Amino acid sequence: MLGQVVRIRANGLEVRTEEGVVRCSLRGRLKKERGAGKLATVGDEVELEASGAGEGRIGRVLPRRTKLSRPDPHNPRRELVMVANVDALVVVVAAADPPPDLLTIDKCTVMASAGGVPSAVCVNKIDLESPPWMTAYAKAGIQVMKTSAATGAGLEDLRAFLAGKLTVFVGPSGVGKSTLLNALKPGLALKTREVGGTGEGRHTTSWAEIVDVGGGRVIDTPGLEFFGLWGVTAADVGERFQEFPSGCKFRNCQHTNEPKCVVRDEVGRGVVAESRYENYLAIRRILMESAEMF
Ligand code: GDP
Ligand code: ZN
Repeated sequence: MLGQVVRIRANGLEVRTEEGVVRCSLRGRLKKERGAGKLATVGDEVELEASGAGEGRIGRVLPRRTKLSRPDPHNPRRELVMVANVDALVVVVAAADPPPDLLTIDKCTVMASAGGVPSAVCVNKIDLESPPWMTAYAKAGIQVMKTSAATGAGLEDLRAFLAGKLTVFVGPSGVGKSTLLNALKPGLALKTREVGGTGEGRHTTSWAEIVDVGGGRVIDTPGLEFFGLWGVTAADVGERFQEFPSGCKFRNCQHTNEPKCVVRDEVGRGVVAESRYENYLAIRRILMESAEMF
C-alpha cells in the first residue's frame, strides 16, 4: 500500500492512503533510524504494510522531490529532514508586533532554496503597518502577499497561492499563523496559541500535520521556525539568492571586495536590495564561523 504521512504525533505517524488513515507507531527500527535521518516525516510518500485495522508499519520512504532539512543539533554533520515533498514555503511575518527580522526571512529563503523549494513571504497584520522593506522581495522575484487575518485583507491572494499545492508555513510565533489558517478555513477551528497557556491544546498531541485549507494543503507545525542550514556553504550561499546576477569577473566571486563584481554593481544601482546583500554577507559569515567550529 502507498500513502503519504499527514501527521506526526509523539508516539506515531498517520499515513493517508486510498483506504483511509493508517496509524504507524514509532518503535524499534524506525526509532533508531530517526537518528540516521531515514525516518519518515510529514509529507513523505511511503510504502506500508497493514498490521491490523487502521494500523500499519512503514516499509520504505519513497525518494523525496523536495525537503526542508536542518543539521541535527546533536551531530551537525547529520541531516534531519523536517518536511518532505512540499511545493512551496511561505515565510509568515507580521508587519509589526512582533517586528519582523529580515535576516530570519532570508535564512528561510536560503533553507528553502537548498531543499529545492520555492519561497514566498506573507506579511500578516498589514492592518497595523505597510513596511517599506517589502520591495526587497519584489525585486528578488519572491512573491509577497500582504494579509490581515483581522480584516480579511489579502486572504484571497493567499488562498490562490495555496491552491493545488502542499505548502509549509514557517515563522516566529505571534505573527498570526494559526489565525490565518483559521480564516482560510473557518471550519478548522484551530486553537490559537495561548502564551503560557496550560490548556490541552492540539499542539501538545501533534507535532506537525497537513491540514486542508479549501483547495490547498498546509503543513501546520508550531515547531518550524528557522533552524539552521543544511547543504549550504559559505562559498555557495550566493547561489541561493536567486536575484543575484551572474557575470562577475571571477567565477567563484564571493561578492565581497573582488573587482568587477556585478552583484555589488547591482546593489549600488538599487536593482538588488541592500538588505538582501547585507543578509547574504551575514549568512556567509555565520556559515564560515560554523565551519570553523566543526
Ligand atoms: P501564531 O503564533 O503565529 O500562530 O500567531 P496567532 O495566530 O496565535 O496570533 C497571535 C496574535 O496576533 C493573536 O492575538 C491574534 O489575534 C493576532 N493577530 C493575528 N492576525 C492578525 C492580524 O492580521 N492583525 C492584527 N492586528 N492582529 C492579528
Ligand atoms: Zn561578485
